[in-house]
Amino acid sequence: MRDMPAEEIRQATSTRREALATAAAAGLTLAGAHLLTGSGVPRAEGAPPGQVIVVGAGLAGLTAAIELRDAGWGVTVFEARPRPGGRVYTIRDPFMQRQHAEGGGEFIDTTHRRIRAYARRFDLPLELIDRGYDRLDDVFFRKGRRRRGYRSLGKQGRRQTNRFWNRIESMAEPLDPFDPAARGGRYDRMSVVDLMDEVGVTGRARSVLVRDFEDEYAVHPGRTSLLMALTAERAAWSQGEAGVEKFRISGGNARLCFAMARSLGPAVRYSEPVSQIAHDAGGVEVTTSQGTYAADQLVLAVPLPAARRIEFTPALRPRLTEAINGIPYGTTVKTVIQYSSRAWKKQELTGSAITDIPSVGSVWEATDQQKGNAGILISYTSADRGAQAAKLPERARLAASSKGMRRVFPEVAGRRVRAVSVPWPNLPLSGGAYIAYGPGQIDPYFTDMQEPNGRIWLAGEHLDPTFGYMESAIRSGSRVAGRIGPA
Ligand SMILES: Cc1cc2nc3c(=O)[nH]c(=O)nc-3n(C[C@H](O)[C@H](O)[C@H](O)COP(=O)(O)OP(=O)(O)OC[C@H]3O[C@@H](n4cnc5c(N)ncnc54)[C@H](O)[C@@H]3O)c2cc1C
Repeated sequence: MRDMPAEEIRQATSTRREALATAAAAGLTLAGAHLLTGSGVPRAEGAPPGQVIVVGAGLAGLTAAIELRDAGWGVTVFEARPRPGGRVYTIRDPFMQRQHAEGGGEFIDTTHRRIRAYARRFDLPLELIDRGYDRLDDVFFRKGRRRRGYRSLGKQGRRQTNRFWNRIESMAEPLDPFDPAARGGRYDRMSVVDLMDEVGVTGRARSVLVRDFEDEYAVHPGRTSLLMALTAERAAWSQGEAGVEKFRISGGNARLCFAMARSLGPAVRYSEPVSQIAHDAGGVEVTTSQGTYAADQLVLAVPLPAARRIEFTPALRPRLTEAINGIPYGTTVKTVIQYSSRAWKKQELTGSAITDIPSVGSVWEATDQQKGNAGILISYTSADRGAQAAKLPERARLAASSKGMRRVFPEVAGRRVRAVSVPWPNLPLSGGAYIAYGPGQIDPYFTDMQEPNGRIWLAGEHLDPTFGYMESAIRSGSRVAGRIGPA
């Protein structure tokens, strides 16, 4: 629980006694005594009309739980970790001056309306990223040389890049984001790199584009379905460039997850992983580390690699099982390093950098809107660089990242205070950064996964056509709650 301040632990988790009382009131039963609500067992008098179990207290699960509760359902959320938020993970613990950094989901775009609405609902202000940093420069670090500002692509490179994006837009425009294969099935057989070849993106323009896709999708674009990229483009149609990565939640994104979880009270049960789900036409029965519970409907709001670890009886339909077992996740490692002062600002630098150092990747300052003399830089390595970093033992990973960071920002030498690294591909409850549909995987699986398997509904970032955002998770949770409907 090193990412959780004691106060948050107290506020977010319930005592076992509270949990038992709520479960009983909700018509759920604990170990040994099953209540098969949908299979002819009469409901207790005064009990809510129906029960939903939500597996996973990430943003998708929390949203589904809140909106189902608001629709009159009795809801219980089982979460394997001792905290809510999943891939939203604000790291506070080792840092001085009460500073924090996002180990997972960080930036909010201007069109991310659902997360902004939830932030308002829980009175959480947003911080405007880089406010006060406009006069400072970013760094471009390549072949051992640091330059201020990013190098222009040149006329030819710009022409190639524009051609590529114009093609993406014209291909994306006719697509239905929830059924992209209906009109764009042929693009699913191509990768993003195939389009670069077709359009003729070469040289530096190509390396910059590959790099941008790797940062965005966390896999090499040769392994990204072109249809996935087009679907994401279509789903974010109205998002102007200037509004991308504009906000964070002030005080840490995890504050939103804690607020959402608190609003559900003891219905959220922490450190209680689900290991088995049995289901039939009458209902579902869920086995956790603490017992077995029955309900009418189930929302499975866990990443696909985590779903692979759950036993379903009977097995889910073949296509769903294939999707769960076969769709890969992007590989990202975030390394978060606190320095005793923001020495880069004295050099009139923002702390942001694009580098060719594999152990460093892209860099930015996490503390641009936080108080204190100290400052935190985040090193973000993704795709093959992220996979390599994840394979290193933690000490070696931190050492490589810190050493690389000193090459990019020599002024930080001797000022490192604390460092934490989050290797997402190694965490079994996440299994990677976010979904990365490969060529041939959107067409058979994306639309199919939106449909329930009997009483089991999937939710999560991987099911929304914006893919890979906190907003995606909220949209998906909300969509599933809407489709389940009122109790
Ligand atoms: C490095 C990184 C950077 C990112 N950057 C951004 C960004 O800048 N902006 C942005 O908007 N998004 C970003 N994201 C993506 C965003 O964080 C995710 O899309 C979103 O948080 C996913 O939410 P979710 O609810 O779908 O899944 P999760 O957050 O993964 O929630 C699933 C929950 O299920 C739990 N669980 C798993 N298995 C079980 C089980 N058997 N029983 C019970 N519980 C279980 C997990 O512990 C977890 O809490 C980033 C993600 C990463 C990893």
